[in-house]
Amino acid sequence: MRLSLIVPCYNEQEALPIFYEAATAVLAGMDCEYDLILVNDGSRDGTLAVMKDLAARDGRVTYLSLSRNFGKESAMYAGLCNVKGDYVAVMDADMQDPPSLLPEMLAKLQSGDYDCVATRRVTRAGEPPVRSWFARRFYGLINRISETEIVDGARDFRLMKRAMADAIVSMGEYNRFSKGIFSWVGFRTCWMEYDNVERAAGQTKWSFWKLFKYALDGIISFSQAPLTFVSLFGVFMTSLSFLALVFVVVRKLIFGDPVAGWASTICVIIFMGGLQLFCLGIIAQYLSKTYMESKHRPHFIIAETNGEDVTKIR
Ligand code: UDP
Ligand code: MG
Repeated sequence: MRLSLIVPCYNEQEALPIFYEAATAVLAGMDCEYDLILVNDGSRDGTLAVMKDLAARDGRVTYLSLSRNFGKESAMYAGLCNVKGDYVAVMDADMQDPPSLLPEMLAKLQSGDYDCVATRRVTRAGEPPVRSWFARRFYGLINRISETEIVDGARDFRLMKRAMADAIVSMGEYNRFSKGIFSWVGFRTCWMEYDNVERAAGQTKWSFWKLFKYALDGIISFSQAPLTFVSLFGVFMTSLSFLALVFVVVRKLIFGDPVAGWASTICVIIFMGGLQLFCLGIIAQYLSKTYMESKHRPHFIIAETNGEDVTKIR
């Protein structure tokens, strides 16, 4: 039995060596073989050099260096497309996913009751309060409007059987929202909870707006509810305008036509114009995602690797 550990890294030259030491120390004490797949997601610092150094020292290290920064989702996908182990784990390089959980996770898988052990953090200590507030609203909203369950606080840190990793690879969508994809493929998942750990070194890659956009991507990828909302809203406004029409005609027949109400007319026009643009905007979001999907661009391009039979473009 072999475990493949995938680590997406973007500008992690400080954190990666710390992670490597900690992870290999834990893995060495575990009752299974392992290999590490380090994905360099177009880092601008010395991450690739660190990876090469680790690979030179440790034959179990494979590095995949992408041709530019494709984003964590694509980096994970590159790793998943190139795993060789029977068990697959995905972990961040910054020690926010504690390697010390791995033995317990593996034991859960080997018990045969589960196909996947996922982790969620139950606290958000060390995070700006505004961010936590928006995160909670996001999970509340998406779980109301999506059929796929998105677990609050779920990390991408998981240990799964190869079959599940293959299922994830088979989902070739371009807009990848992993929290949704992991859940969509199913399989028996055990949740392990832990308190939030702060990054060991380096900087988080997520600004508030990046997270906000990511949240919107998640909603668009895993729910059609905004489109239904737009349609129903259209039906509602049409019915309302029909009633208004009857009202105006009847009033004209009974009271004649005293030309007045310029202000109210303008208000209605502006209001309707705004609503139409808003609804078009929602549709445009879906359309733009469909447009990107229809191009069938690769998810990642590997420029450099020390591995053999590596899928370089997919
Ligand atoms: N990451 C990546 N590509 C990116 C951004 C991040 O591969 O474009 C990696 C990063 O190196 C880290 C993991 O994804 O190993 C999580 O990133 P980060 O710690 O910045 O996210 P957070 O933990 O703050 O959600
Ligand atoms: Mg992190």
